[in-house]
Amino acid sequence: MGSYTEYSSRGGSLYLTELLCTNCQGAGLELESESQAVCRFCGTPNAVAGVLCVHCDFVNAAAAETCEGCRQALWRTCPRCGARNWAGADACRTCSQPLDITTRAGTRAAETTAGRLDVQAREATAFKAVQAAGSQRRMADFEAIEARRQAGLREAQTRRDAQQRVILISVSLFVVAFVVVAALALAWVYLTR
Ligand SMILES: [Zn+2]
Ligand SMILES: [Zn+2]
Ligand SMILES: [Zn+2]
Repeated sequence: MGSYTEYSSRGGSLYLTELLCTNCQGAGLELESESQAVCRFCGTPNAVAGVLCVHCDFVNAAAAETCEGCRQALWRTCPRCGARNWAGADACRTCSQPLDITTRAGTRAAETTAGRLDVQAREATAFKAVQAAGSQRRMADFEAIEARRQAGLREAQTRRDAQQRVILISVSLFVVAFVVVAALALAWVYLTR
């Protein structure tokens, strides 16, 4: 088992993630208890001099009451026997009373679940926005096509109206011409009789 006394050598600002495993030199120490971390690569327990913060992994001086990294309490009192326990303890070390789950695993899982849901919600909103934009675009396309169609119809109608006017005028002229010719013919018949 390796051991650390480094926490004070760097002015106290040291997080567990900055420590390397004494066995494999890997940066993968995971908090196990107030003064012990287990290497996630080789499984070696590493003793840490000081008190680990269950909330933020900060390595605090052994006498610390609150975490230097996140200002949360490093210790808590057992509601049954009053014994002082590490803030990350599952049960009282004196009377075995189960302590509330403020363990880091629980907190992290809740954070990531909440985070995931949040991300999902944001993605869903973004997706809906894209869909809405898409349907607006489709709607705009449809409206443009419809407008062109209406314009076409209006043009055709105008053309038809013009043709009808031409036909009407032609017919009228023809009728007038016929009447005039007929009148002249009658007049000629009268006058030459
Ligand atoms: Zn290791
Ligand atoms: Zn902390
Ligand atoms: Zn207790």
